[in-house]
Amino acid sequence: MKKLAILGAAESGVGTAILAQKQGWDVFVSDFGSIKEEYKETLNRHNLRWEEGHHTEEEILSADAVVKSPGIPDTAPIVQRLIEKGTPILAELEFARQYSRGKTICITGSNGKTTTTRLIYYIMQRWGVDVGLAGNIGRSYALQVAEGDHDWYVLEISSFQLDNMFDFRADVSVLMNITPDHLDRYEFRMQNYVDSKMRIIQNQRPDDLFVYWQQDEHIGEELEKRLEGYAPTPTPSSRPAREGNPALCPFQDSDFETLHLTFSQMGQHNKRNALAAYMATRSVGVPDEIIRTCLNEFPGVEHRLERVCEKDGVLWINDSKATNVDACRVALEAMDRPTILIVGGRDKGNDYSMISALVKEKCAGLCYLGADNKKLHESFDALGLPVRDTHSMKDCVEACREMAKKGDVVLLSPCCASFDLFKNMEDRGEQFRSAAKG
Ligand code: ADP
Repeated sequence: MKKLAILGAAESGVGTAILAQKQGWDVFVSDFGSIKEEYKETLNRHNLRWEEGHHTEEEILSADAVVKSPGIPDTAPIVQRLIEKGTPILAELEFARQYSRGKTICITGSNGKTTTTRLIYYIMQRWGVDVGLAGNIGRSYALQVAEGDHDWYVLEISSFQLDNMFDFRADVSVLMNITPDHLDRYEFRMQNYVDSKMRIIQNQRPDDLFVYWQQDEHIGEELEKRLEGYAPTPTPSSRPAREGNPALCPFQDSDFETLHLTFSQMGQHNKRNALAAYMATRSVGVPDEIIRTCLNEFPGVEHRLERVCEKDGVLWINDSKATNVDACRVALEAMDRPTILIVGGRDKGNDYSMISALVKEKCAGLCYLGADNKKLHESFDALGLPVRDTHSMKDCVEACREMAKKGDVVLLSPCCASFDLFKNMEDRGEQFRSAAKG
């Protein structure tokens, strides 16, 4: 019996363990940290062997293959030992793919993955096919394959997952954009990160499709390197000549107007997400009118420019997911009403000068929300806007209520991580939501 060791016992690791056992592997699960109770119960229910708090090298190094959680970097000592030994180290998606009959629509990019993935899933469901949603979202792909499989999967794929994918082939791949992110995991070399993202097209064949945002700074250049006969504005007749390349489906911002699309979600970035979803679902045969209806009815994704409520003429928007300055910039650009901006939290070395002109243009007031708001005072007070200083969501929402006039928006788009005052960004968004409604 072949042996599979699984490093990391969360959603993807536990799903992989169940699938591998079902497929006849001898499975061992190891987590260096502590395993959540619910996952321990699941592992026990399936009589799977597991350990937590350490890695037993004899168990792991004797495996024929290893599935590693995307959160574990290659620099981890156990991974180094496996690399030295030449043990294949796979991503969950790579491992599970071989046991699934379903077709895949795979979405990656630095920004917009979750929104686009959920939108595509929403459209596929409405079309009425048997479809699963997985990857970085919800229940693991491996578990869904183990529990009966689907005809289709919509998969959100991070660069960390792509790093351990070699034979995986997407029927439809979608690349939203490539902007610097997670460079600490890529030796601080942008090209390494770009190479990781471009893996989304690996193994694709001419009957597969690659949907991508044509205005991205990197993607065109990468395709030129990788696809013989690539033309910068490919048309069906100028598709890459080399056998084995996927069909290309580029889109650009202006296509949104050309195609007369409308989308329930605000902001230019969301038009791109809608276009990507439109192209991907059209290509697999979803009728045009279904897609258009879905674009108008899509309820959006929690904590991403989520409309919470409109009270006394003031609209409250939860964009708690905006944990960096760029995400806040995108949100402010989408605002078409005077905005009271809530900003602050754990700063990751933010340069607020990037948005100061936009803040001045769009905002009617600022409310700082963090354990330490000193840097915010230094960065924004000089703009001359009304400013409030708060350290809890309750005080923050009260201050915003006092500041906001009829016709204004209160926007939580904090530029920062949430860990100084909240459990995580979801907790921050939920507290905002209930205080705003309350
Ligand atoms: P991801 O899953 O890649 O983090 P999300 O859909 O969760 O992406 O969106 C996260 C944030 O990224 C949003 O709040 C928004 O600020 C920004 N964003 C979303 N879509 C795009 C896009 N297509 N281009 C640039 N930024 C985007």
